[in-house]
Amino acid sequence: MITGKYQEFYNLLSKAIPAERLLHDSLSTLAFGTDASFYRLIPKLIVKVYNEEEVTATIKIASEMNIPLTFRAAGTSLSGQAITDSVLVVATHGWRDWSVLDSGTKIRLQSGIRGQQANNRLVKYGRKIGPDPASIDAAMIGGIAANNASGMCCGTAENSYKTIADIRIVLHDGTILDTSDKSSCDSFRKTHKELLGGIEKLSARVKADKELSDRIIKKFKIKNTTGYSLNALTDYSDGIDIIKHLMIGSEGTLGFISDITYNTVVDHKYKALALIIYPDIESACKAVQILKKQPVNAAEIMDRAAVRSVQSTKGVPDYIKTISEKAAALLVETRAENEELLKQNVSIITDSISSIITELPLTFTTDPKLQASLWKIRKETLPTVAAMRESGTTPIIEDICFPIERLAEGTLQLQSLFEKYNYPEAVIFGHSLEGNLHFMFNPDFSKQEDIDKYGAFMDDIAKMVVNDYDGSLKAEHGTGRNMAPYVEMEWGSTAYSIMKEIKQIFDPKGILNPGVILNDDSEIHLKNFKPLPESKEIVDKCMECGFCEGGCVSEGFTLSPRQRITVYREISRLEKSGEQPHIAAELSKLYSYAGLDTCATDGLCALKCPVKIDTGKLVKELRHEGHSQRAEKIAKSIAASMGGVTSGMRIGLSSLYYLRLITGKKLFGAVATGMHKATGGLVPLWNEYFPKGATKIKPTHPNVSSDIQKVVYFPSCITRSMGVSKEYADAMEVTKVTDMLIKRAGMEVIYPNDLDSLCCGMAFSSKGFVEAGKLASDKLEEALRIASENGKHPVLCDMSPCLYTMKSNFGERIKLYEPAEFATQFLVDKLKIRKLNRKISLFAVCSAKKMEVEEHLKKLAELCAEEVVVIDSNCCGFAGDRGFLLPELNKHGLRNLKEQSAGCSEGYATSRTCEIGLSKHSGISYKSIFYLLEEATRE
Ligand SMILES: Cc1cc2nc3c(=O)[nH]c(=O)nc-3n(C[C@H](O)[C@H](O)[C@H](O)COP(=O)(O)OP(=O)(O)OC[C@H]3O[C@@H](n4cnc5c(N)ncnc54)[C@H](O)[C@@H]3O)c2cc1C
Ligand code: SF4
Ligand code: SF4
Repeated sequence: MITGKYQEFYNLLSKAIPAERLLHDSLSTLAFGTDASFYRLIPKLIVKVYNEEEVTATIKIASEMNIPLTFRAAGTSLSGQAITDSVLVVATHGWRDWSVLDSGTKIRLQSGIRGQQANNRLVKYGRKIGPDPASIDAAMIGGIAANNASGMCCGTAENSYKTIADIRIVLHDGTILDTSDKSSCDSFRKTHKELLGGIEKLSARVKADKELSDRIIKKFKIKNTTGYSLNALTDYSDGIDIIKHLMIGSEGTLGFISDITYNTVVDHKYKALALIIYPDIESACKAVQILKKQPVNAAEIMDRAAVRSVQSTKGVPDYIKTISEKAAALLVETRAENEELLKQNVSIITDSISSIITELPLTFTTDPKLQASLWKIRKETLPTVAAMRESGTTPIIEDICFPIERLAEGTLQLQSLFEKYNYPEAVIFGHSLEGNLHFMFNPDFSKQEDIDKYGAFMDDIAKMVVNDYDGSLKAEHGTGRNMAPYVEMEWGSTAYSIMKEIKQIFDPKGILNPGVILNDDSEIHLKNFKPLPESKEIVDKCMECGFCEGGCVSEGFTLSPRQRITVYREISRLEKSGEQPHIAAELSKLYSYAGLDTCATDGLCALKCPVKIDTGKLVKELRHEGHSQRAEKIAKSIAASMGGVTSGMRIGLSSLYYLRLITGKKLFGAVATGMHKATGGLVPLWNEYFPKGATKIKPTHPNVSSDIQKVVYFPSCITRSMGVSKEYADAMEVTKVTDMLIKRAGMEVIYPNDLDSLCCGMAFSSKGFVEAGKLASDKLEEALRIASENGKHPVLCDMSPCLYTMKSNFGERIKLYEPAEFATQFLVDKLKIRKLNRKISLFAVCSAKKMEVEEHLKKLAELCAEEVVVIDSNCCGFAGDRGFLLPELNKHGLRNLKEQSAGCSEGYATSRTCEIGLSKHSGISYKSIFYLLEEATRE
């Protein structure tokens, strides 16, 4: 609950920003109190800003009231810089504009675009953005630039600092400066003479102090994100240039970044990769020192413990398990413009390190599949190590940098510190070509002795890196709160006081992310640890990295998968300990809608999660726990009488359909909406795309002895009950279209016996009715086993979600196909396809995404229609019946659909229920992809 000046702040801000985007309830503040670091701070208020006017209003009011603000992009920061106990300004939704400039040599990106999305826009130009953090799929431009994040290849040459062309920012007083716009710069020079003068004077002073400027230049020769980008003061003299570069790595403490224009870099197509195994880490480091001078783009080091963590991961070559106990691996990549140059590079590299003995023969591969599996070893190290920790412990990842010529020495000294402090689980890996090492270990911060040990260990690490090597304490993850106590130690008091002056010039009231980068508390890195208590096994390995958020339909509406886990952990911690029972009760109450009801249980989060956590499974388990025995019994009896249910659905839907025709859309819609509201959502919300009941299928029996190829067709209980919608009332039902297509392709259709009583069980299991789901699933499996003659004939289901459930539950014996996969494998080469002159839209439902059949769907649509728009989305949020009962999730999931499908005459998908929501939110009719194929192959 907000009180005092925060209440006043809220009141003022609510004049500029709608109340539904100003959150202060206990569940939201807890959920947003988490970033990927091991710290937690609970904000008083969360402000979801959608545009620059809202940011300006927020900053102005906060400045007047001296209220601290922290900006948040994807929240994947590791050093505690994206959290606050004051106001968290979340700039993610609404910050997605971009434009490719000058034939792809530049790209302008708003701060909420994820790094990988930016690169996807540049593929056709053969270019990419320079910064390449391992988190690029999740991290957003605002965070990438504000942290000066970097990764495997970009080093110090292609990071945000080096590749920024222009920036648009909002300063502490609400002023906007756009460095790409001359009039904005001219006006800024007039209105902000003092700020510009101050910063230019600082630059002149630094340049005049030779010792200091030499030190700054030297320190930025290696990767460094400790403190501010002081190189802006030595590299530039004009105030606007200095500001542009100081913003990089400023971690939200100097202003808000609205957008950035990057100079893009070439993304060479020709790549060769070698996983080189050395007998020990010292040999590997020595090889890196030589490789630094060769045409090498990346050299990633992994010690034996790091390799061990991923050696059993699917796709990782088997020989990795056999390497010796002290071995270390080096993943070396070289890239070139053409094949010839690539070969030359490989030979130069191989010769250069031939004198260093390897444990296994050194070979480069150009096979993209093998390259992907080798990269997997490196990319999965961090999350896998984090997941292997004991439940309840905290995964700590540090990020230091040695001068490359002393990498071997530094690495050995680091290992001896692990021994001294007894961290046997510690692993080392990192971007060795830049001298940048990450190390991970897992203390238990619920014990004071572990906190004390961690504090002493970090002191020793700092002394070693700074005093013995003059290295960087943070190479790429940003200073945050985690390294703030050591900034002065690393830089010295003169440089540190310059940093304080910078902060004073940009943020005189100290409202922008205070405590981050500069912090007077020498123990701030030992405070506010995030509890990661044991809760449920399926989510205990979660490190709260946030990689799953971009794949979730409810993110931005209620909770993201990470937030579901965070809140659940806290509820279960409070319940177990008996602490603050009223808070536990309040959280549970709010969680029932935000955590449970509005999860689509589609499991798309698992596709993005490095440790494959399916938060939907947690939700199903919790729903299951919430059911009474009576409800379980009812579900089981429904599952046992599916025949009656489907015929009831057919009658009910047809009654509604004809009633609507008689009463008219307006009256019927008003009554139906009223009933939905009056019953608190128990009566489904009607929309004009509701289908009428389907006609009952009368299975025909093929001549089983004939030689003609047979297909078992299982029309799902949904397509058996839901017929056509009003906008295609004259068309055949999808079950008839499917039957016709199979026969048109010269095959015979077998329907399983007792068809009307069959169901895949998804409708039950997704609601947590496990036993009812299993009952239905087992019955269907047996019927399909008989119909397919023990798997002799392929089995087709016309709904992707049902097919996915069947694939997950059944054994391998039955060969199962979803519609698009079936069509491309069994139908298209037997049919004569005539491309239709139409622009159509295509939506891959979540189960199609999980089964990786999107390519089949696209291929099929492109065979049938001239122009195909593939909708860029997660799950649509219809989630079986949730679209009827909780239509707001579907609305959120499809909020960008209309815009994306503009100009399309119709849409296609592979799930009848999803098609209802897709039609409603696009305004065009969505049907099964089989309708398209049928039309394109009609005589
Ligand atoms: C598993 C894992 C692997 C990682 N690998 C790497 C790696 O290889 N290299 C690397 O450098 N980092 C890595 N990171 C750290 C992190 O992902 C990056 O630093 C990333 O760039 C942060 O981006 P974000 O969108 O999550 O920003 P956030 O965490 O939301 O914010 C980062 C900082 O920027 C500020 N900020 C956010 N938006 C704005 C804005 N619009 N204007 C001004 N300030 C803003 C915030 O206040 C905060 O201080 C990794 C993290 C994880 C969890
Ligand atoms: S569920 Fe997976 S991706 Fe999501 S926060 Fe947890 S570990 Fe990260
Ligand atoms: S199952 Fe779907 S809706 Fe639920 S948390 Fe995962 S991605 Fe989000």
